[in-house]
Amino acid sequence: MAAVTDAPPTLEAFAAAVAGCTRCPLHATRTQVVFGSGSPTADLMFVGEAPGFHEDKQGVPFVGAAGQLLGKLLAGIGLTRDDVFVANVLKCRPPGNRDPQPEEIEACESHLFRQIELIEPKVIATLGNFATKLLSGKPLGITRVHGQEQEVTLGGSRVLLYPLFHPAAALYTPRMLDVLEADFRRLPELLGREVAPPPPLQVVAPPAVEPEPVQLGLF
Ligand code: SF4
Repeated sequence: MAAVTDAPPTLEAFAAAVAGCTRCPLHATRTQVVFGSGSPTADLMFVGEAPGFHEDKQGVPFVGAAGQLLGKLLAGIGLTRDDVFVANVLKCRPPGNRDPQPEEIEACESHLFRQIELIEPKVIATLGNFATKLLSGKPLGITRVHGQEQEVTLGGSRVLLYPLFHPAAALYTPRMLDVLEADFRRLPELLGREVAPPPPLQVVAPPAVEPEPVQLGLF
């Protein structure tokens, strides 16, 4: 697995390297690593939480009912799964679909950051709490921040981070689904938006040094 840290130059090569990852205990219970799927040059990237039962079996993220909803929402804005890239915070399934543990996220996060670096998306839509907190670097939950875009630097580039409710949660809560649909409809506008480059480093001039008073040798 040495190649993971060797930073392979393409997404495909990186996926092959991550397929053998054993950095955290989830490697022992997974069927396979679920790296992500879609366009390696996508402008729009989605980041969910972790693979579930079907994802673990098929090796593709978002393939169950939540994946069908994601596909439907994408169709509503004229896109398909092939136009975007879909990944998760964790690449291996937590047993019983339990929440990701902090040490698992810490072990796996560099894979996600490298994916972002290689894909260079314009907009990253985080799906649910785990992805939102990790990529925003803030503890605010999805209920507070959904639908509120913010410019951040990820993978060395400026991107618009756009938190959304997780489709799996919206499946069972009609009110949440309405909000998710409304937030989703803003994606085309966000994709068309110019993201400002990072501000140049401020060079702070040293404070002017007062000249020493001239000693006139009077004493
Ligand atoms: Fe590696 Fe991530 Fe899978 Fe853990 S969850 S074994 S860090 S790929």
